[in-house]
Amino acid sequence: MPKQTPYPNALAPITLGSVTIRNRFMMGSMHTRLEAMDHPTERQAAFYAERARGDVGLIVTGGYSPSENGLIEEGGPLFNSVSQLPEHQKIVQAVHDEGGKIFLQILHSGRYAKDDNIVGFSDIRSPINPRTPRVLSGQEIEQIIEDFVECADLAQQAGYDGVEIMGSEGYLLCQAVVERTNNRTDEWGGSFEKRIRFPLEIVRRVRQRAGSGLGIMYRISALDLVDQGATGDETVRFAQALEEAGVDVLNTGIGWHEARVPTIAYMVPRGGFQFAIANIKKNVGIPVIASNRINTPDVAEELIASGAADMVSMARPMLADPYFVKKMIEGRKNEINVCIGCNQACLDYIFSFKVTTCLVNPRACREFDYKTEPAQTQKRIAVVGSGPAGLAAAVNAAERGHNVTLFEAATELGGQMNLAKKVPDKTEFYELIRYFSSQLEKNHVKVKLNTLATLENLQEGGFEDVILAPGIVPRIPDIPGIDHPCVVSYVDVLQGRAKVGQQVAILGAGGIGFDTAMLLIHGKGDSAPDTAEFLHKWGVDLSLKEPGGLSPEGPQFPEPSHQITLFQRKPSRMGKTLGMSTGWALRLELEYSGVAFEPGVSYRKIDDEGLHYTQNGVDKTLAIDTIVLCTGQEPMRGLYDELQRAEIKAHLIGGAKEAAELDALRAIDEGTQVALAI
Ligand code: NAP
Ligand code: SF4
Repeated sequence: MPKQTPYPNALAPITLGSVTIRNRFMMGSMHTRLEAMDHPTERQAAFYAERARGDVGLIVTGGYSPSENGLIEEGGPLFNSVSQLPEHQKIVQAVHDEGGKIFLQILHSGRYAKDDNIVGFSDIRSPINPRTPRVLSGQEIEQIIEDFVECADLAQQAGYDGVEIMGSEGYLLCQAVVERTNNRTDEWGGSFEKRIRFPLEIVRRVRQRAGSGLGIMYRISALDLVDQGATGDETVRFAQALEEAGVDVLNTGIGWHEARVPTIAYMVPRGGFQFAIANIKKNVGIPVIASNRINTPDVAEELIASGAADMVSMARPMLADPYFVKKMIEGRKNEINVCIGCNQACLDYIFSFKVTTCLVNPRACREFDYKTEPAQTQKRIAVVGSGPAGLAAAVNAAERGHNVTLFEAATELGGQMNLAKKVPDKTEFYELIRYFSSQLEKNHVKVKLNTLATLENLQEGGFEDVILAPGIVPRIPDIPGIDHPCVVSYVDVLQGRAKVGQQVAILGAGGIGFDTAMLLIHGKGDSAPDTAEFLHKWGVDLSLKEPGGLSPEGPQFPEPSHQITLFQRKPSRMGKTLGMSTGWALRLELEYSGVAFEPGVSYRKIDDEGLHYTQNGVDKTLAIDTIVLCTGQEPMRGLYDELQRAEIKAHLIGGAKEAAELDALRAIDEGTQVALAI
């Protein structure tokens, strides 16, 4: 550890049972679906090895089921045979070669399984799964315990430094512990002691078989955030029993997957659930690991220095930047690519049966496909536009040795990200702009702000390739009266330029319609989520006395600043196009804040009486003070056609290429890909 690091606590080594870890950073378990691709072992080894090379102390693999009946989905990761040892040995070796340690996560999905072979402690269906579980017999429960022991034994044979027994987020072990999902009357149900017997037996027997040479981590649910979940007192008693049973370290999880409180997305304040983690830490003698929305070195240091936890788990931040810890150690904090909590390319991809990657780092999980190799011929390249597509293109092209000039007509870098960062709770976008700025400087990109790129100045610059990412312009729909003074664009609202009245109609219910509604109900933009406010409004019980950590009063959202009606022409459910793992929370927040949803409309006209529209064949008029247009975008292509005519090699990317459904994910990916190909 460097002597003068500002992170003396986070970078100090720690011993977990018999395993010494070089610093307090753990890459938490993630399902990547790399196992479903070609060369799965090589891909996983490359993925984990890069994170170990980036100095993360400990890595936990994605969850492996110890038995067929615990698979998350058909063909999901399973580790139940010695024939699989060679593939695991390769992964372990790759991490050890880079000086890292690695634990295997053992996960039984229980009633979260997405196939028909679904089992549970009771036949109580999860609200997020249409399948009802078949009740496990006592004999089958005994068999699952043995399956965990066998799997841990295989992990030890493969060379893993330890195992993480997955007991949070609502999977089978959680399901055994609480009455919500366990109504058994045999020796596995009834009293609290009987309900925690199943995970305790697993730990005891794994320890018995493995001896002291294998690290045992248990991921405990620090806060269930569901009705009939555990109280704080029960969680502490359970944690103490796990310590007694032979666990070396407790990792923590917040909220079951079916919880209706956001737990990891951008609207959750950084380190926002530490009160529940600290409650475990102060009641046990073994190290405790904090998780959920820890994405910067300062948050990690603060959590450990304050005594709330001994280590931090960062899963998504290790997708965003494999070299996070190395950059901290080397005093290059400003170069860290921070996870912005969007979930768009990690969780949302997993839920859509795709391989995980990362919005801010499209190389994540594609280490084989996105290789940054020096350019064979160095070229003079102009990049036009400094939105996410242009920034990614400029940085990646310069990193490969090209001589890059970036043109931006505005006074600041960032393009549409400068609007996104104005949305309440979306201030993480500042981090993305900060990261790209550091990379432009590091890679000596010449940045020309306040400079409109034209055919003339591009010709004068003698550029051999032009990457065009000028972006989009907001779409103005063809509605009679659209130029009425009450009509404003989302751009004016997000930038704080428009005067918005009390009664508001928002036309268009895509991501930007929802974001604009959020800004208007909050009454202010540009604000990072506040922990006390967040926990109060989502109904989290800070006293930890209530079952599941939910306050009896339920969610308490403040009175909105405006009365809002959100419109769309499609008859489908509003917000259907939002991210799967974030859209539900946005919808709920708008509902709790009294926003009215009007799908399936056709707009007739706008005049002094308000908005005239037709819905289900009925003509209606809504009196409004302000109409905000969030009706999508059109591409800005003008310069591309000019360059084509002048026979200058131009690559059109981002919104300028295809405005429909453009988001930062596609923009950064396209910018990266074009730069890697020149
Ligand atoms: P969008 O998602 O395409 O939504 C545009 C909305 O305008 C739709 O609701 C559409 O619904 C309506 N519309 C389109 N053409 C119209 C017309 N001619 N007249 C009237 N209404 C029209 O676009 P966006 O909201 O501007 O977002 C742009 C991109 O950023 C999207 O890819 C979005 O996913 C992304 N984004 C994502 C988030 C997020 O939370 N993940 C946040 C912000 C932005 P109807 O046609 O049914 O009326
Ligand atoms: Fe973080 Fe978004 Fe990347 Fe997921 S996709 S790791 S949430 S930045």
